[in-house]
Amino acid sequence: MTKAADSPKGRLIILSGPSGVGKGTVLNLLLSRNPQIFPSVSATTRQPRDGEKDGVNYYFLSREEFEAKIAKGDMLEYASYNGNYYGTPADKVQEKLDAGMDVLLEIEVQGAQKIMSVRKDVISIFILPPSQEELERRLVGRKTEDEAAIRKRLEASAFELSKAGLYQYQIVNHTVEQAASEIEAVLYGNS
Ligand code: 5GP
Repeated sequence: MTKAADSPKGRLIILSGPSGVGKGTVLNLLLSRNPQIFPSVSATTRQPRDGEKDGVNYYFLSREEFEAKIAKGDMLEYASYNGNYYGTPADKVQEKLDAGMDVLLEIEVQGAQKIMSVRKDVISIFILPPSQEELERRLVGRKTEDEAAIRKRLEASAFELSKAGLYQYQIVNHTVEQAASEIEAVLYGNS
């Protein structure tokens, strides 16, 4: 199942999509079926949500810590989103690519654009909701945030959706199974 044996280098995969589109659930299924994919753990200055663990979901940093990492050139990319920094620590990504694993970055569109502009070898995938109504329903139904935060995320999602065309592949998340399978088809063909 692993690619390491027949491929010396892994591929860099960018996965984006608006908040509430169900990226996390699709990603979990994809990763459970594809151990050759390494999910990069991002750094962020936002507060952990209930159940989130440092070093697992994110590396939770202060603004000072994050800015120090930017200054040292430790971030492959970073962006501001909803008033917080989010970024991809560079070291692990290269290490895993060199080891032949496919590395997946689940990142927002500004950071994705930065990487796409400097690396032409990335595979970029954007996950779309079946409809705007469904996206709003899922976002409100999540109940992890207050109304003001949800409104901000809806505004951000409109911006994110406007960038879907910059990605090589657009996949509609009708169901988790179908979306994960379509991503697998993009990455590994329809076997
Ligand atoms: P959340 O706060 O819901 O975990 O993430 C908010 C947004 O930040 C999502 O769109 C997610 O894809 C994006 N994000 C997470 N990690 C990174 C990262 O390392 N870099 C960038 N540019 N965006 C990220």
